[in-house]
Amino acid sequence: MTKPSKVSCNVDLAKAGKQVGFLAAPHSRNDSGWGSARFPLAVIRNGSGPTVFFTGGNHGDEYEGPIALTRLIQNLDPARVQGSVIVMPYLNAPAVAAGARLSPIDGVNMNRAFPGERDGTVTRMIADYLTRHVLPRADVVCDIHSGGKTMYFSPFGAIHDLDDKALMKRAQEALVAFDPPIALILRELDAEGMIDSEVEGKGKVFVTTELGGGGTTTRATLDVAEHGIMNLLKHFGVLEGKPVRRASRGLAPSRMMTMPDAAYVIADHGGLLEMLVDIDQAVREGQEIARIYQVDRPGEAPVVYRASCDGVLLGRAHPCLIKPGDFLAMVAQQA
Ligand SMILES: [Zn+2]
Repeated sequence: MTKPSKVSCNVDLAKAGKQVGFLAAPHSRNDSGWGSARFPLAVIRNGSGPTVFFTGGNHGDEYEGPIALTRLIQNLDPARVQGSVIVMPYLNAPAVAAGARLSPIDGVNMNRAFPGERDGTVTRMIADYLTRHVLPRADVVCDIHSGGKTMYFSPFGAIHDLDDKALMKRAQEALVAFDPPIALILRELDAEGMIDSEVEGKGKVFVTTELGGGGTTTRATLDVAEHGIMNLLKHFGVLEGKPVRRASRGLAPSRMMTMPDAAYVIADHGGLLEMLVDIDQAVREGQEIARIYQVDRPGEAPVVYRASCDGVLLGRAHPCLIKPGDFLAMVAQQA
C-alpha cells in the first residue's frame, strides 16, 4: 500500500461550483523552515459530464497557457458547465514565477518528472500527486505549451501516434475540435517522463500544443489557445454548442501535418546561428537552411546545415547563440 502523498490540496474536486486554491508541497528552506511551495489549481464543476483537465506553465517560460487559463478560471460561469473543468494554469508554478523552463527549487523539468515520486523533490512530489489524484479523474487532458525562451514554432496543436488506434481516433477528433492553424501528429525527441505518456497510458485523450515561443505571446498565439480551449469544452459537451471553425472567423482552415523520420535538425557546432529559411517556409531535402559561425574564427567559413527531408519549417532555435546538441530546426509535412 502506497503511503499518502505529502502534497495537500485545499479544494474539493468533487464539489459543485467554482473553487480556486492550490496544491501545497512541503518545502523547507533557509528563509522558511516549515514552508511550502504552492501550485494554483481551480475546479469549476456543475451537473454531470466529463472532466477536462487543462494545464499551462508546465515549462515556466511558456505563456499562452498561463494567460489563457487564468482567463478561463475568471470567466467560466459554473452554471454553464456540465461536468468538471480542472485548471492548473501554472503547472510548474515556481518555474513560472522565475520565468524559467525548469523549477528553480530542484532544477527538475516537470514534463520529465512523471509519474513522479512520493518521496522525491518538490516537482516530483507534485507529479506523483497529479498521477495518483487528478489524472484518474480526468477524461481529457490538454497541456498547453509554447517554444519558451529557446525555441520558436509555427503555432500548432498536436497528438501522438498511439498504438491504441481507437484512443488515437478520439484524440484526433479532439484535436480537430481544438482547431489549431496546424494539427500535427507529433514525434517526441524524448517522451519518457512526460505527462503526455502518463495520460495516454491511462487510456485517456491527450491534446498538446506548441504556440509561438521566444518567451512571450502574441495576440495570434493567445487566440489559438483561447479558441482551442472553448472548442474542446464544446466538443466534449462540457459547454453547450458546437466548436467554432477557423473558417467562420475569416482564418485559413486547420492543416493536418505529420513528421517524417528526419524531422529534427540538431546542432553539431557552437556559435552564431543564421537561419536561411523562415518559419512556415517550404524546404527541399538537401536545401541549406542554416549556417553556424564559430565566434573565435571569423576568418573561417560557417558550417552549413541542410534539410534532411522535404517539408515546411515548423520550428527553430530562438536564440542566435547555439551549442552542440541543441535543437536547431524541425520540419513537418502535409498529411
Ligand atoms: Zn513546454
